Amino acid sequence: MNTRIFIITLALTAGFFFSSCEKDDEVDKPVITIHELGEGDTHGNDHTATIGGELHMDIDILAEGKISTVQVIIHHEGEGHKDFQDEEWEIDTTYTKFSGLINTTFHEHLEIDTTAEAGDYHFDFIVTDMEGNQSSADAELLLKEE
Ligand SMILES: [Zn+2]
Repeated sequence: MNTRIFIITLALTAGFFFSSCEKDDEVDKPVITIHELGEGDTHGNDHTATIGGELHMDIDILAEGKISTVQVIIHHEGEGHKDFQDEEWEIDTTYTKFSGLINTTFHEHLEIDTTAEAGDYHFDFIVTDMEGNQSSADAELLLKEE
């Protein structure tokens, strides 16, 4: 009698371990490491870019579920969106050329249009993998006049 209960307990415990192992099959979300963000001409890392110049981005991506898209958003900091009619300069661009890669070093430059206003901006970096997992990293960015 006692032996039977022991065996049943063992079977249940084994079943529990098997089912908890299956959950580990889920892939980890993409991991983003911002190494450098700065002036394009010097590949700087002072989180500053010049209007009319370029922003240099050096960012590591590790995506167990393989990269699908990489999105970069640069928008004005603070004030909120009090005036929706006011068309402020911002960047919202999506890269698909890294699609299918598990890891990559994202070294890209973005032009900072001459219509951009100087000031504090917010930099958002969003990676979506092919499993639909999404991760993001962000940073402060200062745009200054030439
Ligand atoms: Zn660069």
